Amino acid sequence: MKEELKLIADFDMNMIEDFFSPLDRQGPGSEEVTKLALSFVGNLSPESKIADIGCGAGGQTLTLAANTRGKITAIDLLPKMIARVNDRMKQHGFSDRVSGITGSMAELPFKENELDLIWAEGSIYNIGYERGLNEWKKFLKPGGIIAVSEASWFTPTRPEEIDRFWTFHYSEIDLISTKIKQMEQAGYTPAAHFVLPENCWTENFFRPAQEHAESFLQKYKYSDDAKTFVTGQLNESNLYQRYKSYYGYVFYIGIKN
Ligand code: SAM
Repeated sequence: MKEELKLIADFDMNMIEDFFSPLDRQGPGSEEVTKLALSFVGNLSPESKIADIGCGAGGQTLTLAANTRGKITAIDLLPKMIARVNDRMKQHGFSDRVSGITGSMAELPFKENELDLIWAEGSIYNIGYERGLNEWKKFLKPGGIIAVSEASWFTPTRPEEIDRFWTFHYSEIDLISTKIKQMEQAGYTPAAHFVLPENCWTENFFRPAQEHAESFLQKYKYSDDAKTFVTGQLNESNLYQRYKSYYGYVFYIGIKN
């Protein structure tokens, strides 16, 4: 069967930035969820070093900055995201502790054993969950913490439509039990995991994206590519409504052995 879906990576980079960077977050999440995940992280001091990888426009960076005392490096591939992160940090008075930098999660600018905490909300899929856990581990001190949120199956079998959608977009999606085992195999002690509540998708991600769609379409003069892009976002939201009992985002928190 011919695959009719377009991968997000098939769209123009400017289009991706223009659609997502004005949003407060670029994936499912919430302040409460970031704080809950943070509650499994031991005491961080003002000397602690934190990396927020695939930070987007800095939704979770704000919560990390407000609820820790460490120094945060927030990294994203897209310059417009980083411009927003740095603006938001300035607005909230966190610029002295938080720096947003443009860069790739595949070539992180850290030294071995430098970091106390690695944070990656809704972003590790870009490098792949297993590869990210394995490659990033060297930057953590022994006993350092990794906290990532990742799309995961809730059930061993699923309706064909949603199975095909996810396998096409992110073939590493898997059961929670598999994700925990992979974390263990990568050299971490799994410390906690929890499922993100529905409002993280509906109120905090899909709704703001839909509200922003019209001004995005206007900017792109209703081009076919822009319309296809917006339709893809709507499709994802519809699929979530229909199949949310089969999958979701799960936060996984591990301690480097
Ligand atoms: N953490 C943010 C949040 O939850 O709102 C953003 C999540 S968004 C789904 C994924 C982010 O990863 C995007 O901002 C994207 O630009 C970034 N990204 C994609 N590939 C990347 C790479 N190779 N290195 C760094 N960031 C990347």
